[in-house]
Order: sequence, then structure tokens, then C-alpha cells
Amino acid sequence: MTSLSDLPLRDNLVGQQPYGAPQDPVPVSLNVNENTHPIPDEVVEDIVQSLARAVRGVNRYPDREFLELRESLAGYLGHGLTAEQLWAANGSNEVLQQILQAFGGPGRSLLSFSPTYSMYPLLAAGTDTAWIDVPRPADYVLTPELVTAAIAEHAPDIVILCGPNNPTGTVLDREVIRAASEASAGIVIVDEAYQEFDAETESAVALLPGRPRLLVSRTMSKAFAFAGVRLGYLAADAAVVDALRLVRLPYHLSALTQAAATAALRHSGAMLGAVAEIRSERDRLDAALTELGYQVHPSGSNFLLVGGFADPAATFEALRAQGILIRNLSIPGHLRITAGTREETSAVIDAIAALGPGGARA
Ligand SMILES: *Cc1c(COP(=O)(O)O)cnc(C)c1O
Repeated sequence: MTSLSDLPLRDNLVGQQPYGAPQDPVPVSLNVNENTHPIPDEVVEDIVQSLARAVRGVNRYPDREFLELRESLAGYLGHGLTAEQLWAANGSNEVLQQILQAFGGPGRSLLSFSPTYSMYPLLAAGTDTAWIDVPRPADYVLTPELVTAAIAEHAPDIVILCGPNNPTGTVLDREVIRAASEASAGIVIVDEAYQEFDAETESAVALLPGRPRLLVSRTMSKAFAFAGVRLGYLAADAAVVDALRLVRLPYHLSALTQAAATAALRHSGAMLGAVAEIRSERDRLDAALTELGYQVHPSGSNFLLVGGFADPAATFEALRAQGILIRNLSIPGHLRITAGTREETSAVIDAIAALGPGGARA
């Protein structure tokens, strides 16, 4: 049998692991930061009708420029954005890949601050972009000084700031974004996958005017409860969108994706209807685990990074055996838990409480 090592794989992919969070069909899935609430029935009906209309036209290629969707996304983000400043792809992962294809590549570099989203180094490897990993301080909080010094030292072609940061939940100070755009001669991406959960912080799209190399990446996968559709998007200067057109595959967004996303955006209020409840479940999870003696890191997102587990892998397996999936990211002593519905959140709290101090009986 042929194995991977027998194949003439590109050098920078040798030894890499594919992205692979477990996808067990368990009753309580709190491991990939989805919105665990189903989308409202009235929205389902409108999406189905839009899909039915779109299906009748699928003998033709879809609108390559997906202008109606881009107008809807511009309207959703507000801040005076126009369709020319919006772009989208099959998940923000594809948007990020297109950015690396256009602005990264051989001889170029991508810098971020770890621990952060595990896809960044994989996207760098896939586009032959050098990955520069700068560690965060113990509290994970980025400062203008730290970010400016890292950019001065490494002169990266691309910087990604994830805010709120996955997997730590840490919010991103707007001053850090200002400092990074000032310090960098290259591209600065703010990954706002969890922005709708951070009611206290204004979106970085407010910083776009006058900053043509600042890119704000967003997704419908998290707060918007649309992970299965695969729709990520970007707000930036119209010239950045022109650059992404050079690398996108023709007709990359299917007619069905465009129809579903445009319909869902007509109901953005209803689609985001569970966000306040998820935030309060996150806060309840935080209080309960703190009470049990765990160290919970401050979070502006729908998940918590929790320290104080004696053996995270054992706790992860003990919960998995009870039908509860959380995330072990190999941060010593830590596990990441998504806030779910009231029932799901109670289930994970009760299961961890039953394990005793530090998850010891795991
Ligand atoms: C979940 C997540 C994404 C979203 O990916 P999609 O491809 O849009 O589903 C992007 N960035 C971060 C940091 C994430 O956690």
C-alpha cells in the first residue's frame, strides 16, 4: 500500500497534519465554537424558497461577482461600506487562503501571535509562505508595544491579528490594530470570526478609511449560525478585492451558496437572536468553573479557555465517553469549551463537577 511518505509531496507539507477537530455524532458538541442553536423556522422557509428559485438556474454558471450578496454583506456591516469593498468565499478560511495567494507565497512571510487559530500556519504552508510565530504574554493580551516590536523585528509581509482570539477568547484592543497598521509596510488582517459576540468592541471595519492595507475578515459560521453553508467574507479597500480576483477560482461561490447567504442576511436580527443567550451561558460556565477552582481566561467570544486540569487529555476522554465533546488544543493544563444552549452548558458543568478537583477522577 502506498503511504504519504512514498509520494513526491512538496517539502513544506512534509510532516504536517491536516486540520482535524473530531466530528463525533455526540449529543453535546461544544468543540468547534459553532452556534449550537438551530436557525429560526421562518428563516429556514425563506432560505428554502430562495434555494428553490436558484436551483432552476443552475444549468448556468452563477454570478462570478456575486454582487447581490456583496451588497447584502455591505448593508449588514454598515459603516458606509459599498459592495466594491466586500468579498466572500467558501468560509473565511478560503478568504484567508486567497489573501495569502495574492500577498504571500515563496519568499514572503505571515506573522501572528500564538496561541492563536491553528489554521494560520497550515494556510501559510499550503501557499509556501514562511510562518513567523510570536508568543503572547502569559495573559495572552496583545499591546501596541509588543506588536510594533514584533513587526519591526521580523518585517512580515502579512500580519494576522485574531480578535477575539481563538483559542484564548482574548479581546483585541483597537489601539493594537492602529499600531500594527502604522508599523507594517505590508498587509494587516484582523480576523473577526467572533466579533458579533463581543458587544463591547466596535468592529475593525470602523478603522478601514485611510488604511488601504487593512483587511477585516468575518464569517457567517459562528454567531450567524451558518457554519454548514460555508460563507466567509472580507471588508477592505476596493483595490484589495481586485487583488483577490486574480487568485480566486472562476465561479467559486455556487449559486446555492449565494442564494442561501443572501436570504439569511435578510433576517440578520433573527439569525443573531441567540447571541445574548450564548453570552450569558458563557458567563454562567465561567462562574461555575471558577467556583470549582479552574482558571478561566477572560473571553469576548462564545467559548472559554480553561486552565487547571491535571490531565487535559484524560478529562477530554472522560467527557467524550459521556457524549460531551470539548477541545483539547495541547495547551498544558487547558481545555477549550464552547458555550452552548442552557441544557448543553449545564451538561458540561455537571460532568466536570462530577470529576472532582482538577478533573482528577478523569
Ligand atoms: C471558526 C474560525 C474561522 C471561521 O472559519 P470559516 O472558514 O469561516 O468557517 C476563522 N477564524 C477563526 C479564528 C475561527 O475560529
